[in-house]
Amino acid sequence: MPQLVIGTRNKHKVQEIADRWKELVAKGWSLVDLSGFPDAPEVEEDQDTFGGNAEKKARETALALKQWVLAEDSGLVVPALGGAPGVQSARYAGKHGDDAANNRKLLAELEGKADRRAHYVCHAVVADPEGNVVARAEGHCHGVLVDSLKGSGGFGYDPLFLVPEFHATFGQLPLVVKQAISHRTRALEGLERWLHKIGG
Ligand code: IMP
Repeated sequence: MPQLVIGTRNKHKVQEIADRWKELVAKGWSLVDLSGFPDAPEVEEDQDTFGGNAEKKARETALALKQWVLAEDSGLVVPALGGAPGVQSARYAGKHGDDAANNRKLLAELEGKADRRAHYVCHAVVADPEGNVVARAEGHCHGVLVDSLKGSGGFGYDPLFLVPEFHATFGQLPLVVKQAISHRTRALEGLERWLHKIGG
């Protein structure tokens, strides 16, 4: 049974991916996270596109571990801010992964802006154990940014990201709803046909 390593240390992402791919596991893949690979490299996300960073993470991690690896890069794109925070989403306010500071900065930058549209992007890549990219897909999820934090679910910018169809933010919606429509789910869907073929 081929083993696919989820190449991220973000536990929220691992949960979303593992939940989504329960069926894939039944179809022949064994899905593991990086916790069993203490020597996995810390890959620097220094590319200027989501696709470039996802590919770099997948290739370098696969080569180092000699494993099939899924890596993704994701973030929030706000047209009124020229596309920011974009590939800088995790470290928008300076420190990597400081969600509270990132949200404060986002609200400050948006002050006085009428256009509150935003979309999440997720670019996902699978590399084989030799570091070759064998599949890639991108998913988007559109919403608008509210002017104060609402809800405590999800992670990152979720308490500010309102999904118009549900009149609620990803912070307020149950995780199953987020998982039905998120950028990450849509990117994973794009990879599934290929993974089913390889998994047999
Ligand atoms: P990465 O780990 O470099 O891909 O950075 C992802 C960053 O983008 C996170 O730290 C969040 O700030 C943001 N982000 C990506 N996906 C989501 C999501 O589903 N909800 C909220 N924020 C997200």
